[in-house]
Amino acid sequence: MSSAQKYDVIVIGGGASGMMAAGQAGSRGKRVLLLEKNKKLGAKLAITGGTRCNITNAEEDTRTLLGHYGNAEQFLFSPFSQFGVKDTFAFFEALGLPLVVEARKRAFPHTHKAEDVVRAMTEFMRKNKVEVRLGRTVEKIVTKGSRIEKVIADSEEFFADSFVFATGGISHPETGSTGDGFAWLAKINLPIAKPTPTIVPLKVKESWIKDVSGVTLSDMKITFMSQSKKKFSRTGAVLFTHFGLSGPLILNSSSQVADYLHEGPVAAHIDMRPNLDLGVLDKLITEHFAANSNKILKNTFKELAPQGMSDALLALMPAIDPGKKVHSVTKEERRVLAELLKDLPLTITDLMGLDRAVVADGGLPLTEIDTRTMRVNKYPNLFVTGDLLHINRPTGGYSLQLCWTTGFVAGSAA
Ligand SMILES: Cc1cc2nc3c(=O)[nH]c(=O)nc-3n(C[C@H](O)[C@H](O)[C@H](O)COP(=O)(O)OP(=O)(O)OC[C@H]3O[C@@H](n4cnc5c(N)ncnc54)[C@H](O)[C@@H]3O)c2cc1C
Repeated sequence: MSSAQKYDVIVIGGGASGMMAAGQAGSRGKRVLLLEKNKKLGAKLAITGGTRCNITNAEEDTRTLLGHYGNAEQFLFSPFSQFGVKDTFAFFEALGLPLVVEARKRAFPHTHKAEDVVRAMTEFMRKNKVEVRLGRTVEKIVTKGSRIEKVIADSEEFFADSFVFATGGISHPETGSTGDGFAWLAKINLPIAKPTPTIVPLKVKESWIKDVSGVTLSDMKITFMSQSKKKFSRTGAVLFTHFGLSGPLILNSSSQVADYLHEGPVAAHIDMRPNLDLGVLDKLITEHFAANSNKILKNTFKELAPQGMSDALLALMPAIDPGKKVHSVTKEERRVLAELLKDLPLTITDLMGLDRAVVADGGLPLTEIDTRTMRVNKYPNLFVTGDLLHINRPTGGYSLQLCWTTGFVAGSAA
């Protein structure tokens, strides 16, 4: 065995949690190697928050914050007491990247660039002398009794006293998170909860939505119905995509919608003017039409419909000629347009797959781990972080905070 390949700590995976674990272990004077299969670090981190990186959630009260992690709450008090939200703010500030807080307590780097977070984490590792090897896919892990003995990447063997598995989950596999860690953990007889997408866009049957792909409806209300019964409503912003609906409101509704999808397609009714009742909206349209009676309907309707939607909405009403003058629009036609603005019906047929999920749960249950250290109970020299852990959480910075916390704790103990 060449001594160059024996380390104190080997971290597998150069995502958010792996970089944190590696840098933290390095700061303790450990000889650390990080193996990453991509040619660059933090590929998923770089696309977070629409490339702005919702880096944490600025909820100051730990109990309230942890309430968002479902059943995991009780396991997370110890790790969050070691590295919580305030620590995340201080950590990035110290790396020259202060954070700013937006609506719903979502915190972002002040530059609004996820790439800057990747750069800061890379710098954190460099400062702490972590050896980073890119383009190295770990293919095999080898155990000896209850210890991880070595890992093999491209036929090369790497030995260490401790190993941190930070290979992520299985969403957006193009970023490198292909579930390798799940397979390794299962192979060494650890239980793995089957991943299901928990925060994921929704597929819609109506093909016309392709025409409005990229349009965001802000301040709208969406009501979900199953078996003709109203189930729940939310207000906020919805993003139309090529295949369906996305945006925070949809992502945070997806696990509830998933339950109803077991009973068949779910009807979604979008109210684009939730602050006006139908009568008031009809009056408003009447007045607008009266003031623009010689104009073409297609042009005038643009001023009434949400931006980017008017052509698609008129196309849904083939009986109404969009090229006619506004003064020839009948009272009934005007009413139909008002009704459409109040109730745009869509049919949710499915969730998008695991590959498009922002977060999928599944992974190693926390009962298998000592969360004071992130050490696996059955393998005392193995530590597990980030998306490899089976923890349910909403959008809003909660996933990355988990990465910073679990990475820090593992890097402090490994
Ligand atoms: C589109 C999108 C947007 C998101 N936005 C946000 C957001 O704004 N805020 C938020 O809190 N969360 C967000 N998330 C969730 C967040 O990105 C993840 O929770 C987080 O990145 C997980 O980090 P990780 O360290 O566990 O794993 P990952 O970031 O998945 O990193 C794992 C790394 O391991 C490497 N790897 C895998 N297998 C091997 C192997 N065999 N050998 C070597 N290397 C390997 C991979 O290449 C990868 O680089 C978003 C997720 C997605 C998909």
